[in-house]
Amino acid sequence: MSQKIGKVYLVGGGCGDPELLTLKGKRVLSRCDAVVYDALVNPALLEYVSADCERIYVGKRAAHHALPQDEINELLVKLGREGKTVVRLKGGDPYVFGRGGEEGVRLHAAGVPFEEVPGITSVIGGLAYAGIPITHRDCASSFQVVTGHLKNDAAHLDWPVLAATKGTLVFLMGMKNIEIITSKLIENGMAPDMSAAVVREATTPKQQTVTGTLADIAEKAKAAGLGAPALIVIGKVVGLREELRFFDSRPLFGKCFVVTRSRAQASKLVEKIQDQGGEAIMYPTIRIHPVASEMARLGSAIDHIGDYTHLILTSVNGVDLFFKQLDDMGRDSRTLSGLTVTAIGKATAAALKSHGVTPDVVPERFIGEALVEQLGPMLTADDRILLPRSKNARAYVAEKLSALCAVDEIKIYETLREDRTDVDVAAMLKARQVDYITFTSSTTAKYFAEKIGETCPAIIRDSGAKCASIGPKTSEQLRALGLPVDIQAETYTIDGLMAAIKEDCTKNH
Ligand code: SAH
Repeated sequence: MSQKIGKVYLVGGGCGDPELLTLKGKRVLSRCDAVVYDALVNPALLEYVSADCERIYVGKRAAHHALPQDEINELLVKLGREGKTVVRLKGGDPYVFGRGGEEGVRLHAAGVPFEEVPGITSVIGGLAYAGIPITHRDCASSFQVVTGHLKNDAAHLDWPVLAATKGTLVFLMGMKNIEIITSKLIENGMAPDMSAAVVREATTPKQQTVTGTLADIAEKAKAAGLGAPALIVIGKVVGLREELRFFDSRPLFGKCFVVTRSRAQASKLVEKIQDQGGEAIMYPTIRIHPVASEMARLGSAIDHIGDYTHLILTSVNGVDLFFKQLDDMGRDSRTLSGLTVTAIGKATAAALKSHGVTPDVVPERFIGEALVEQLGPMLTADDRILLPRSKNARAYVAEKLSALCAVDEIKIYETLREDRTDVDVAAMLKARQVDYITFTSSTTAKYFAEKIGETCPAIIRDSGAKCASIGPKTSEQLRALGLPVDIQAETYTIDGLMAAIKEDCTKNH
């Protein structure tokens, strides 16, 4: 009986930054039945595999050893023979000190078809992100990539040849032996003042680079606490770093941010932090819960939309749920044609626009008082306002407007505490790993404090982390909870918050 044979793809996942994956790598990941991956691979790449894909980790983890290479080889053969499409995902490029060659040879011998999908190796990509081009016409017309894993002695490398090179030398897996490597090169005639660098966790938000000379780089790297995984680079090209560094010179580089918004709304802030070089940790403190009975009330209001003259939407969540209700009723934005539509906040206005509705009124400041000031003079006793919004919203707007005309406030959703989180932020704070905690509403502040627990103010005080607030209401809540307001946005938007944080980072750089 013939059995379908699968295929194994030896895929290079790139050297850290998840966007350094090739299009082909992404395509095979999204179609595979099993993925076999190890420690150097960025876990973010696993987001491309399907939900039912088998995930097999074979790297080193804390006290556990990595699966031995021959067992990995046999695992790949077995999966292939089961007829599966398999991705063997590796850091950098599989054939650069990745043992991909050994796996390919074993698959070939077993008659299991395979392909190699090259990846961006740390040798090239890691150096590039540190601002070091591996060659340059003026100073390096060749390069050598060398293992720094010296087994029992250093004798198996040809030191006189390495020391005589006019090109760039890159040592991988060399941190344990950095003293031996540098002294062997000097002993064999390389100039002690040759430029050198160590680049750790290249292309990630934790990238660290130390530069020096062949004579002092080992000591400098040690003083800076640089361990594996790191690249040791020796050659004149290191001197170009100050002109070519782009990655670690971005304004938020090296800073760690906790984002407390809901999972659904975090992405915009996360992207902005990452674009400026910061590391964003998602720690959702709230989630949006539509209230079914109130959504039904909204449905009846929509059935009688002709009775209303105004619609006020005060949040993106409100807009999304309003249009969901319209859609569920088989209606669309034309339902709003006779109404004056008001949006509080730029983001709310943008959400409305994405549904094809340009709001008639957008108060200049993004708080309730501004809305009442601006809309109040336009209203007469004959007007009737539909106000679908959050159960947690302040009473102020509804109260003030009700004094002027009829207001139907429908509390279509509530903001609940999100208890599903993957990170232990209290531990990160205690370890002083967090630089900023971002609060984009008073509820995020309230539930953040609840989640961290009673000792939250003390933990934050001792952590060195700063609390960044989007506006006065959020700041008020933070203070009421005993938390500091180190930064408050001038404009009460995500962009305003980012601008305030950036200014703080630059000031304290
Ligand atoms: N196949 C990989 C290399 C595997 S060997 C590649 O092509 O990049 C493992 C060594 O690679 C580490 O010890 C370290 O020297 C280097 N390395 C891999 N990723 C790195 C990174 N992001 N930053 C610095 N060094 C890295």
